Amino acid sequence: MITAAWVLRKANLEDSGLLVDIAIDGGKIKAIGQNLPIRGNEEWDLSGLVVLPAFVDAHVHLDQTLSTSFNKSGTLIEANELWNEEKRRLTYERYFMRALQAQNIAITYGTTALRTHVDVYSSGFWLALEAILDARKRQRDLITVQIVALGKGGNNPQDEKALQQALKMGADLIGGSPAFTPNPKKSIDTLFDLAELHDKSLDLHVDEVDDGRIMTLEYLAEKTLERGFKGRVTAGHCNSLSFADDATADRVMDKVKEAEINIVTLPSADMVQMGRGLKPSPRGLTPVKELLGRSINVAAASDKVRDSFNPLGSYDLLQTANLLAHASQLTGTHEIPMCLEMVTTRAASVLGLKEYGLFEGAEANLVVVNSKNLTDTLASVPERLGIFRKGQLVLRTVSRRVWTEGLVWT
Ligand SMILES: [Zn+2]
Repeated sequence: MITAAWVLRKANLEDSGLLVDIAIDGGKIKAIGQNLPIRGNEEWDLSGLVVLPAFVDAHVHLDQTLSTSFNKSGTLIEANELWNEEKRRLTYERYFMRALQAQNIAITYGTTALRTHVDVYSSGFWLALEAILDARKRQRDLITVQIVALGKGGNNPQDEKALQQALKMGADLIGGSPAFTPNPKKSIDTLFDLAELHDKSLDLHVDEVDDGRIMTLEYLAEKTLERGFKGRVTAGHCNSLSFADDATADRVMDKVKEAEINIVTLPSADMVQMGRGLKPSPRGLTPVKELLGRSINVAAASDKVRDSFNPLGSYDLLQTANLLAHASQLTGTHEIPMCLEMVTTRAASVLGLKEYGLFEGAEANLVVVNSKNLTDTLASVPERLGIFRKGQLVLRTVSRRVWTEGLVWT
């Protein structure tokens, strides 16, 4: 009989009504099918538990996370003040330990790849970048980490120089927040110049405001086409799109679609920061339903986690998908699986990960969750019972609940 390193028996992949076996060997999914005639060196009978592709966090900030600065007012103004102050006293060791701890948390929730932004505009930024490069190296067998050099927007030679230095040190992509610069168009032009020069993709913070008049996304989409960067640009947040009039939003979304820009929505951070003081109080997220309706690739990610910008948030992408389903009202039967895709396959596509998903020949990155169907998976945010990365079992959860006898009917 054929053998494999692992065979997971009776897994529920897509609520199709059929339970399948998954054979894993050589780091890849060797076969998927009913009653596979393959013997596993190790076997696990899942008895109908759901198996998902491992999670991919398309947008986090490992330099800012798990902070000890507390934002009394909760506002963006105070958050920025606290973060700028905190950066002056953070050491390499502190950055390194925070990044490592955050990566560990992410892994325990079943995330096997993430993309982090790192500020590269303050003096001494290289401390944070160096620490995160080292944290990535330390856990390279457990998690794939991509690094975006987050500059001020390329509006001055100093910022350009910092971005170039960050790329030289090992950052993978160019980032920035053009809407927050004095000249957003010039900022976008400069970022494309740099991206062209260094042959890098762009991942920008875009229109992170609850004001529909601010719309740098449109210029970004036009330039993406003009500069030949189709499919190589990612735009995070894009909140103002939800506040624009219908004609503007439709026009911009058509251009985004044509330019094949990936949109990343950040439900926790956006709900915490957007729409403060507005009445009626909006949810503040980019219009996910409309973007998906145009077949634009949308991912959902953690963004800020336990820092001065967001004391909430987590690296649990099932929780993010749950928040997104609530905030964007993605509760139709066809929309439930989409919420899960936005933290797995759609996010993997943002990171450009190849051979990602649950199919024969794909890299065996998968999560067994304590749930029997997809709706329950999204609703109850169940425990991750087993996490595989490149075919290796990274973590298995074993827990037992014990009722006190006589108190509960079971
Ligand atoms: Zn961000």
